[in-house]
Amino acid sequence: AKTVLDVKDLQTYFKTDAGIVKAVDGVSFSVREGETIGIVGESGSGKSVTNLSLMRLIPSPPGKIVGGEVIFEGKDILKLSEKQMRSIRGKKISMIFQDPMTSLNPFLKISTQMVETIRLHEKDVSKQEALERSIDMLKLVGIPSAEKRIQNYPHQFSGGMRQRVMIAQALSCNAEVLIADEPTTALDVTIQAQILELIAKLSNQMGTAVILITHDLGVVAGMCDQVCVMYAGRIVEKATTDELYARPSHPYTEGLIKSVPRMDTTKKGNRLFSIEGQPPNVIDLPPCCPFHPRCHKAMEVCRQAYPLVKDLGKGHEVACWLFAEESEKQRALNEANI
Ligand code: SF4
Ligand code: MG
Repeated sequence: AKTVLDVKDLQTYFKTDAGIVKAVDGVSFSVREGETIGIVGESGSGKSVTNLSLMRLIPSPPGKIVGGEVIFEGKDILKLSEKQMRSIRGKKISMIFQDPMTSLNPFLKISTQMVETIRLHEKDVSKQEALERSIDMLKLVGIPSAEKRIQNYPHQFSGGMRQRVMIAQALSCNAEVLIADEPTTALDVTIQAQILELIAKLSNQMGTAVILITHDLGVVAGMCDQVCVMYAGRIVEKATTDELYARPSHPYTEGLIKSVPRMDTTKKGNRLFSIEGQPPNVIDLPPCCPFHPRCHKAMEVCRQAYPLVKDLGKGHEVACWLFAEESEKQRALNEANI
């Protein structure tokens, strides 16, 4: 399948009174047609800022995309004018949020909002055509009696149904990329699973590339082809999902996998594993592995230099000193001590 979105060395910084926050610092990944990639990390890891950068929705000031490229349809969208970007955002690259009410207008019927969204991006589609397409999308996402329900207001739907409406709206423009930022955290577990299944199904059916942003590695296992684990603004491990579970290599990833709740252990009342310590403050971070204060395998070099990215084969990459050569560690230590 062809690559739909190619993110290269993205850097997004924020200026604060306390210093520069390197919220996203050199993130690279790509998504292909019909593929789902998971971006996993704790809050503050930079996953949401990554997503807002792709949509060019970073509030500036204080934020700024200071480096990198985001290639979509052969062009670097970071270089487009705001006007050009508007023809992509919400149409070719769509987004669904944790709270559907951030993208649904409470005062307008679903029919009105969906028809307007389609016609905003496709001027030559008639109202009737747009309405029919909207009804089809609602059926596709599993809204019963879609012809009738489309005349309702957002508050007339339950939380899960509203989430479905939002997904239908996001996909009604045949988006090529769908970004879902913690799309289900506000919903109960059964509905969560249904919504995620729905996104996966639509991605397969329509060839949509999906970027799923979540703090929950358990969610990723069920539906992503690839995973990027983020920590302190960087990707610390990237692999196919199977590979990541078979060979978790970064100590942080190991911790995340151990902390995924499992039915069998929680039932017995065992305490869940959790990673000790706090996520790092990313203001003026010195050169070091930002995970070192929480890492039980930390070495001297981890406190002195940022780890090299190592390719473990099959596209599995890890940024951790455990995988570097002795000579590389020695060189980093020598440089740090100058
Ligand atoms: Fe731990 Fe060092 Fe690897 Fe960082 S680089 S995760 S501190 S072993
Ligand atoms: Mg977030």
